[in-house]
Amino acid sequence: MSEPIRNWAGNVDFRAARVHRPSTLDELRGIVAAAGRVRVLGTGHSFNRVADTDGDLVRIDALPAEVEIAADRRSATVAAGLRLAEIAEQLHAAGLALPNLPSLPHISLAGAVATATHGSGDGNQNLAAYVRGIRMVTADGEVAELTRGESEGFDGAVVALGALGAVTHLTIDVEPTFEVAQHVYHDVPLAELTAHQAEVFASGYSVSGFTDWGSGKVSVWRKLRAGADGGFEQPQPEWLGGTLATEPTHPVPGMPTENCTAQLAVPGPWHERLPHFRPEFTPSSGKELQSEFFVPRERAAEAFEAVRELGTAVARVLQISEIRTIAADELWLSPCYRRDAVALHFTWIADLAAVAPVLSSVEHALLPLGARPHWGKVFLSGPAAALPTYERAQDFNALIDRYDPAGKFRNPFVAGLFPRA
Ligand SMILES: Cc1cc2nc3c(=O)[nH]c(=O)nc-3n(C[C@H](O)[C@H](O)[C@H](O)COP(=O)(O)OP(=O)(O)OC[C@H]3O[C@@H](n4cnc5c(N)ncnc54)[C@H](O)[C@@H]3O)c2cc1C
Repeated sequence: MSEPIRNWAGNVDFRAARVHRPSTLDELRGIVAAAGRVRVLGTGHSFNRVADTDGDLVRIDALPAEVEIAADRRSATVAAGLRLAEIAEQLHAAGLALPNLPSLPHISLAGAVATATHGSGDGNQNLAAYVRGIRMVTADGEVAELTRGESEGFDGAVVALGALGAVTHLTIDVEPTFEVAQHVYHDVPLAELTAHQAEVFASGYSVSGFTDWGSGKVSVWRKLRAGADGGFEQPQPEWLGGTLATEPTHPVPGMPTENCTAQLAVPGPWHERLPHFRPEFTPSSGKELQSEFFVPRERAAEAFEAVRELGTAVARVLQISEIRTIAADELWLSPCYRRDAVALHFTWIADLAAVAPVLSSVEHALLPLGARPHWGKVFLSGPAAALPTYERAQDFNALIDRYDPAGKFRNPFVAGLFPRA
């Protein structure tokens, strides 16, 4: 092994016996075909062992950095190892956009899609829902192509936790580029947000609420999309008991605001406003663990109340919490499979021993509400407990068998949830 491989947060050391960085498709095919156990690593921003293997770990970011726009300009086929920021820049230069982005543009498209990474917005689905085509190297080293609406099992193969093959290209829906302006209201009472959550999350194209659960206050980030005339609704000085921010802000109190995308209602291109963090700076706090739970939208108020009741304990090990909404999709392993969701995210301190008992209480409070954990973040009993809510879980297991009969890509994370029959 030429370099020590650790995830972005530093809480996971990968156990790989060998690490590869192929620069051609044929090289990748050879590595996968020859491997006994194999996984692809994206940019390593997941907080758990979803990407881990004790066999061959492959990075695909040295494959050709292709971004090919379809003639009808409604989709683009891109090298899946590219970071979202790299893809966004090229799309924007061509007058195009992705419908939405998560909080950070630093991550690879393939990694984001494999774990159902999402941004926010009542009408916005997670990134995986924008995938219309998948090209991947399967366990035997062959190349498989899957197309939305045509290939059997496509809806199971998008959010696949890296278990079906090495994804080399993804074809994604794109649309004409658009402008976004974001502003922040501080000190919105949590009780107001809870009582008016439908109004709050409908008040922008993408809306996030940041809270510590203990103070009873929320900072609401509203990202507005330009209207048909290119203009924006101007924010009022006060809204729902909160006050319009007059200085830039960072979601994590005390962190440098230059790490964040421009606020104060200054318009800019979609990819420079929809993520909270700028690609050339450290996202979030940089020293942290993260967890997130997707609750059915209609149970949002119960979920807020349940976490608020844990407020003091949560606040002791929390840097910040974020509340977002995501629209339902059809992807078998998506936490938003056939349900609109509200996601309760927790940026914890970087100390699992201190966080674990609190996380356990959070899971205890949210799982009975039907919560599904984020595949790429920290959980305790999470996915196993939530698996019965995934109606297509067994179909996904059958899909693994179809593409990977010998179980090369079934690492312990996957095998624990989807054991071989
Ligand atoms: C600071 C920070 C902020 C975050 N913000 C958000 C957010 O706003 N919204 C959100 O939903 N999540 C967020 N996340 C979580 C993050 O989006 C996910 O963990 C995502 O999976 C990271 O992508 P990655 O490329 O680092 O994937 P990795 O962690 O490297 O891998 C994740 C999974 O994808 C698989 N994979 C990667 N590439 C391939 C490939 N080419 N073929 C097959 N499988 C592959 C891996 O095997 C693994 O199973 C955040 C994480 C951090 C660190």
